[in-house]
Amino acid sequence: MAHAHKVHLRIVTADAQVLDEEADLVIAPGGAGELGIQARHIPIVTTLKPGELRILEQQTEKVFAVAGGFLEVRNEDEGSAAIVLANAAEPAEGIDVARAEAARHRAEERLAQRDANIDAVRAEAALMRATARLKVVEQTNTRRRNVGQ
Ligand code: ATP
Repeated sequence: MAHAHKVHLRIVTADAQVLDEEADLVIAPGGAGELGIQARHIPIVTTLKPGELRILEQQTEKVFAVAGGFLEVRNEDEGSAAIVLANAAEPAEGIDVARAEAARHRAEERLAQRDANIDAVRAEAALMRATARLKVVEQTNTRRRNVGQ
């Protein structure tokens, strides 16, 4: 059931529906800057950059890393709906740090080679995904430390 004061958020990738929940506030890494989505937000379609997606619902917060994609916000009779079509999305606690570090290292090495056979755009995109994942882990750990103080 949708609620008038909530945003019905779905996160979808090519492989799966990652999340389907009501939220008070969704903070998304929009292509032109961070966006805060609450109920009755104006309808929009925007790109997403690789970054952090935060979902606040009552006193809880869920944090995801998204590897870029699109966000659509619609207002429907039963409330606001936000759909994130992500290239990939992982909950912060599901991020494999060693894998992201390895991906970052690989991308940096490729970019440093300055070889004509290297697809620099692809390497840059991989670097942005890896950096975004690592930043999400770092920011999540920092917030948890601060809450624990
Ligand atoms: P890699 O080179 O390590 O595969 P990538 O940035 O190319 O990284 P993506 O193409 O963005 O990977 O994602 C492919 C799949 O792997 C997606 O399902 C994504 O959620 C998952 N994934 C990628 N990196 C990580 C990670 N560090 N931790 C958890 N899941 C990951």
